[in-house]
Formats: sequence, C-alpha cells, structure tokens
Amino acid sequence: MESLPRRVALLSVHTSPLHQPGTGDAGGMNVYIVELSRRLADLGIEVEIFTRATTGALPPAVDLAPGVLVRHVTAGPYEGLSKEDLPGQLCAFTSGVLRTEAMHEPGYYDLIHSHYWLSGQVGWLAKERWGVPLIHSMHTLGKVKNAALALGDDPEPTARLVGEDQVVDAADRLIANTDQEASELVRLYDADPDRVSTVNPGVDLDRFRPGDKAAARESVGLPADASVLVFVGRIQPLKAPDVLLRAAAELIARSPERRDKLVVAVVGGPSGSGLAEPTHLHRLARRLGIADVVRFVKPVDQTRLADWYRAADIAVVPSYSESFGLVAIEAQACGTPVVAARVGGLATAVADGRSGILVTGHDPADYATAVARLLDAPHLLADYGENAVEHAACFGWSATAAATADVYSRSIEDLRAFRYRELCAGQ
Ligand code: UDP
Repeated sequence: MESLPRRVALLSVHTSPLHQPGTGDAGGMNVYIVELSRRLADLGIEVEIFTRATTGALPPAVDLAPGVLVRHVTAGPYEGLSKEDLPGQLCAFTSGVLRTEAMHEPGYYDLIHSHYWLSGQVGWLAKERWGVPLIHSMHTLGKVKNAALALGDDPEPTARLVGEDQVVDAADRLIANTDQEASELVRLYDADPDRVSTVNPGVDLDRFRPGDKAAARESVGLPADASVLVFVGRIQPLKAPDVLLRAAAELIARSPERRDKLVVAVVGGPSGSGLAEPTHLHRLARRLGIADVVRFVKPVDQTRLADWYRAADIAVVPSYSESFGLVAIEAQACGTPVVAARVGGLATAVADGRSGILVTGHDPADYATAVARLLDAPHLLADYGENAVEHAACFGWSATAAATADVYSRSIEDLRAFRYRELCAGQ
C-alpha cells in the first residue's frame, strides 16, 4: 500500500516492552506492543518504541526484533517513580523524543502511535511538531475503571481523566480493543465515531496451542488427577484473584471431598504495591482455610505460561474491568475453557456457553457454580476446550497488525487530502 508509513514512532512511556509481563506495571499492553511491533515490521513498517529508562544501566537503544528498536528515554530518576509520578516527567520524556527525531533527516517518522494516556500527551506535542498523524490506543479507560472499582482499589485521579479527554481530542484516530470500548469512547469521551476503529488484540497461536495435559502437569509439578484452576496476571484488586480464592473455598464447603484434588494456581506478581509477594492473598488463603490448595507462582515467561494454561482444567478471570483480557484468549488457544466476569472485552474474548462461561457480578458462589458445572461434566469440559481453540484461532496478531496498518494508511491519506485542500484553498 502506497500510504503505509515507512517508520512509526511508537510511544510507551510508563512500561517497557522489555519488561516481564505479569507484575508491576507490565501486563497486556507490553505483550500487545511487542507482538504488534513485530508483525508491523513483517509488513515492512519499521517501528521505534520510545519508553522511559528505569535503570541507568540501559543502553540508549536495543534491537527487539528485526525492524523493531526500543529507545530508552531519560526522564526523572531511573528508579523509585510510580506510574502516578509520571505526569510530572512528561516534559522531560517529550524532550527526549523530540531530540531523537531532530538527530535524523526531516520526516524520519511518518506517524506516531501512542499507548495509554501518558504517551498520548507526548504524542500530542510530537504530532504538532512533526506534522504527522497521531494514532492513539487507550488500553484502559479511566472513566470505565472508576465505574467498576473493586473494594480497596483507588479511583483514577482527575488528572488522568482530563488527560484522556485531551488525548481523545488531539488524536487523528483512536484504536479500540472492542466495539464496546469504541462505543465507550464515543459515549464517555465524546470521541468522533468516524475516527474510532475497532482492532481486536491477538494471541501468539504458535506459542499458545493445545498440548498434552498430563505432560504439562508434570512439567509444572502438578498431580495428574487434580482439578486445576488457574489465575494468571498482575495481582491487583481490579483483577479480583480474591474472588477465585473465595470461590475455591465455596467449592470445598459444598463438596468437602474435592479438597484433596483441588489446586488453585495463581501465576503473577503484585502490581503497584511495590511488594515482591502478594502477602494479602497468602493471608486470605490461610483465613479461608485453603492455604494447602493454593499455589502462588512468580511471573513466568510466555513459553512457560503456556504449560500452566495447558495444565489447568479452567482459567478463571474474575476481573472488575478488562479492556480485552489477553489471558482469557491465551488460555483458550491452549484448549483451556474460561470462567470469566461479564465485563468489558471479556465478552468478546470468551464465547459464552461455548468456550467458557461468563458470570455476571462478583459473587464467589456464582463462580463456584460455573466452575463446578464444567468440572463435574468431563464431556462438557472437553467440548468447551475444543471450542476454545476454535474461538482463539479468530484472534491472531497478524490480523491485529494488518488492521492497525490499515488505520495508519487511512490517517496518512486523510492528512494528504487535508494538505491538498489547504493548498488549493491558498491558491
Ligand atoms: N503474563 C506473563 N507472565 C505471567 C503472567 C502474565 O507473560 O506470569 C502476561 C500474559 O501472557 C498476558 C499479560 O501478561 O499476555 C496480561 O494481559 P491481560 O490483557 O490479561 O491483562 P492486563 O495486564 O493488560 O491488565
């Protein structure tokens, strides 16, 4: 396509694509950026990812993959800054981005794609300086998150909500994960519907594929005859791992004979707390009398994670809010059905009644009922597992990249048409 960009500046201020997802601030967005960038490079679009340097030992630029470069920008002290501190560093970050561009020939970047509102603020200024389109992906919407807060979760500050409004106005086009997010952008942020495109995220179908459950169990150290429930992701109130623990206690209370066979694996690390261990969940497991049933597993790389999904009978995703829920689609790609909350993107990621069960609300008893329905019907569990693989196959990263490239080229064409109109008007 003639209007495809040659080189994109991709902005990810608060989290690096080189960080291990599943703990701290690294999660689905990191995976998204890595996978999207790789696939864009396959389409011939060079990607340079700008992210904040979090230690002094990082080289200024690192090759992530052929055609994908990560640039470390110095903004603030390397360590000790939380995501909440970063609005104060946006000027320094923007200056680093502008200085990098200024070292190259004019027109070095054809387009900016910013991720999360902090990056959108940087993209806003850079777009005006460079005269290129700004494409923005929100990843999560502060207003949606605030409307679905978990107990103990802090509301998103006004600065974020205002910052998101500004980015929605400044961006040439917005990319939403699902049609639901697209309509929230229009309804809650007054986005122009013609400038919002839905592009579903994907899953690496080579890495996350079905496999032998017994072998997977052996590899992660779980008994062959156990009933295994898995939670994967950053441990934070929003993701509601406590709902899974309470549901497991409820399952055991209803059928005490399950106790010896039940394993609940919680794979991931704390988010935002600065703690190395999810101590509050350890305490909850003890209080519920299920400490022997729950296994806490530190964040693992995705190859290892695929073994955990394959080893599980069911993946449970009880989140209060989820813009898509990569974990749900990865589990299904491995042939593991999902019991998930009926919120946000999970309604797209899970085929309710086919590849998993969507539960309305967060009552642990309802999760226990949904899980028991599948565990107690091996044929149903097997059918759902097959459907899960089929459903996940609809979400490949190559399709995400192709649809994103299409949004890029439409933005470049719009800008050309706008410039042409301006030129004609001036003659
Ligand atoms: N993840 C990982 N290792 C872990 C736990 C999670 O690589 O130990 C990855 C997981 O594969 C998924 C991402 O972290 O791609 C979490 O994405 P999701 O969309 O489910 O949640 P988010 O972090 O965006 O809220």
